[in-house]
Amino acid sequence: MTEPYSPIEETTRKTRPLALVTGASRGIGRATAIALAEAGYDLFLLARKEAEKLEDTALRCRSLGARVETRCADIGDSAACEDSFTALDACPGSLKLLVANAGISRLGLLQDMSPEDWDEMLRTDLSSCFYLSRLAIPRMLRGGGGKLIFISSVWGSRGASCEVAYSAAKGGVNAFTKALAKELAPSNIQVNAIAPGAIDTDMNAWLSEEERVVLEEEIPAGRMGQAEEVASLVRQIAAAPAYLTGNILTLSGGWEI
Ligand code: NAD
Repeated sequence: MTEPYSPIEETTRKTRPLALVTGASRGIGRATAIALAEAGYDLFLLARKEAEKLEDTALRCRSLGARVETRCADIGDSAACEDSFTALDACPGSLKLLVANAGISRLGLLQDMSPEDWDEMLRTDLSSCFYLSRLAIPRMLRGGGGKLIFISSVWGSRGASCEVAYSAAKGGVNAFTKALAKELAPSNIQVNAIAPGAIDTDMNAWLSEEERVVLEEEIPAGRMGQAEEVASLVRQIAAAPAYLTGNILTLSGGWEI
């Protein structure tokens, strides 16, 4: 039987396990980086821009004992992902965890969306999962296993009016997760996704106070989720038994049942 990977055991060795987190300059990615630093991981953190904010996340994680490297790169560009993994290879420790979190959303009618915007959405929210996974997998195989965690959305299964491209991309992430989980289960690499509902981050900063109240009334828990709650679930999946694979875990305060 394959033993589940244990970050605690690895922490007691000289080298801590390495996790790659995308979109770590703010929101869910930042909270995830901090939670993983607390759990004993070293970190390679990516964001598109916002080098200062990314460095601030890194400082916080270093204060928790993690070794941290940061890099600004576009995860929707396969060459930029390859360059990032070349930099990651210079880090001590072996890659045990990929958290593909970075993403963008766009609001508007589908008929008003340009092909360029469609392409950017699909590259950023879906193709990036392929670009990052194809680079992470061989490294994890060399290290004896690992975990891939994708941050999807409830819209990936439910579909949202005025967020058709986003819904299509996240639906793709869900199918990608299930298929890849089957492909990698024999190799001791587990693949799961989290589908959050409405989380209180910059991604939802466009909501007016009134819209926010209406939204919170729709959610059985009566509030939006916190980035730290998603991060806590990432940490738990990272520590979960190897038998947990191929799941889309909904985290929505009862909004999506
Ligand atoms: P956010 O807008 O606060 O942060 C997004 C992060 O992604 C930033 O660090 C940004 O630099 C990075 N990013 C964006 N495009 C990038 C690119 N091309 N290359 C590299 N990095 C890039 O968003 P958030 O709310 O923290 O969302 C994180 C993830 O959670 C996204 O995938 C999002 O779709 C998903 N999600 C969010 C919510 C929500 O309500 N906030 C709900 C469901 C799913």
